[in-house]
Amino acid sequence: MAKIAINIATGSLQKDEIIVGIDLGTTNSLVAIIHPDTKLPVVLKEHNTSSLVPSVIYFDEHNNIIVGDEAIAYLESDPERTIFSAKRLMGKSYAEIKKNTSNFAYKIIDDNTDNLVKIQIGNNFYSPIELSSFILKELKSRAEHILKTPVNKAVITVPAYFNDAQRQATRDAGKLAGLDVLRIINEPTAASLAYGLGQHRNETEKTIAVYDLGGGTFDISILKIADGIFDVLSTNGDTYIGGDDFDNIIIEHWINHNNSLKNQVGDNTNLRQLLRLKAESAKKILSTADNFEDTIEHFSLQLTKAVFESLINPLVAKTIECCKSAIKDANINITEIDSIVLVGGSTRIPFVKESVSAFFKKKVNDTLNPDEVVALGAAIQADILAGNNKDFLLLDITPLSLGIETAGGLMDVLIPRNSKIPAKSSRQYTTQVDGQSGMRVSVFQGERDMVKDNRKLAEFSLKNIPGMPAGLPKIEVGFLINADGILTVSAKELRSGVEQSIEVKPQSGISDQEVEKMLLDSITNAKEDIQLRALTEAKTEAEQLLKTTENFLLKNNGFLTQEEILNSASAIQSLQLAITMSDKNLIQQKIEELNNISRPYAERVMDEAISKAMSGRKI
Ligand code: AMP
Repeated sequence: MAKIAINIATGSLQKDEIIVGIDLGTTNSLVAIIHPDTKLPVVLKEHNTSSLVPSVIYFDEHNNIIVGDEAIAYLESDPERTIFSAKRLMGKSYAEIKKNTSNFAYKIIDDNTDNLVKIQIGNNFYSPIELSSFILKELKSRAEHILKTPVNKAVITVPAYFNDAQRQATRDAGKLAGLDVLRIINEPTAASLAYGLGQHRNETEKTIAVYDLGGGTFDISILKIADGIFDVLSTNGDTYIGGDDFDNIIIEHWINHNNSLKNQVGDNTNLRQLLRLKAESAKKILSTADNFEDTIEHFSLQLTKAVFESLINPLVAKTIECCKSAIKDANINITEIDSIVLVGGSTRIPFVKESVSAFFKKKVNDTLNPDEVVALGAAIQADILAGNNKDFLLLDITPLSLGIETAGGLMDVLIPRNSKIPAKSSRQYTTQVDGQSGMRVSVFQGERDMVKDNRKLAEFSLKNIPGMPAGLPKIEVGFLINADGILTVSAKELRSGVEQSIEVKPQSGISDQEVEKMLLDSITNAKEDIQLRALTEAKTEAEQLLKTTENFLLKNNGFLTQEEILNSASAIQSLQLAITMSDKNLIQQKIEELNNISRPYAERVMDEAISKAMSGRKI
């Protein structure tokens, strides 16, 4: 696929529905759109500048914010006020990143009352969501400047391994930046789209491996594409392997081979930052040259390509191990993989490319710029959402169930969550009253058993059913979600042929496009509500268990062995920690562990209490 830089002078872009694709990267971020004339995805950039906006934020002492290239210089001169790799902190608690805080030159607050990470700059505190929103704001304003039109809508990509908290954090960052985030999509899906894989309905089935080695993270995804629908067969990766780590390895190598540098570097954050910049430039130079030489202050720095490769070999080998696991999890043979797509700046390293190609025994797709490929794919997805490209399928699933209300206000699901779109389903119902001439069909979306807890999408009545005894009419209700995500619900009485259908429109009667967007938005948000509910339920259960266990221990201390007391205390602590980490699965696991520990002595104490109560009595 050809790639062109957009002509800034053209005023020919459609002014109404610009939806941009945004790759919000750990190291760099960028924006792409579909060029209105060529219909090809292009990254946005001003003349003679790079499309990449470094994901770096500098706060001056008046808290003015500078994002991008200009902020880079401050990594060296003012590291405590310069934020990089904020994406690593998205949706994370302090406990999760504790062991890695030394990699950040800025101050990460260890605040036990707030379980999500905060960053302190001067007297101000920022969440990773706010930090990411500053980057997104900058991207938005650059895009507006280039396109000469307001940009309010975006598709943003995230790594495939991002959990819901991280996806939600990304969505919130978009909202804070004034962007309506129409869709969060997986980076490997976007990359495959950019290579033209899986865009058309009649394409034969393909299996794709997307190897993404960026600045901060490694991600391997195995995708299957059939009839234009993407299925993620497996993902694997490591949140702590990336170009940043290669830079750190080089720094360590230099420090370990130079005693005076070792002595000086200590806590000298400025020198460390300087070394970081030099290490990165060494690494980049070694992608095309065999040797690197430079100096900082009075230290000479040297690195050959061969040494660099031996230094990064263990990390590259780790990524290959992840690939093996991903293939195993996908339940496929390596020979079934048709294409390998390279993503991320670090795949420019020849040794990485060679290692991947050697492992898969195939040539890799590396014709597109690995830094731009995800944004280009996001632009393609944005264009599909804008309804501009009817050839492409909306590659999606329904994350929430769709159904109708039945007797007693119960939700009867016709299309379960995670069904592939387009989707179709039908079911037969009957009347409850003799001679019933009409039936109301109310369409709901959600996972709760009672429709009152779900979201109502539409309602219509099937009228003129000929008079029949209750239970005799056969009313077939059909649901169809087309490739554009529009749901049509129909109802037909099969004996008489009376029928009625409705395209799902919200009560206020807004446009089809808005219906689609609302449907997609509510789907995503509702899903998060459900997760929050599950987490809240787990937390409540955990808190109740903690309370009863602690009371029990207080009362029955004398009956327990020292080991039981110690084990309980440690299980209680782990459960408390799990609660602060807001991890539902972990909380449930810890509840079970605490229950397993307390069950034997609880039963024993109970038995003793019973036998005490019974003692002296004749049965
Ligand atoms: P990304 O997160 O995809 O933007 O990737 C950025 C990472 O790619 C950073 O660690 C860069 O240092 C690294 N990178 C960019 N260009 C090159 C290159 N020519 N050779 C090696 N690494 C590079």
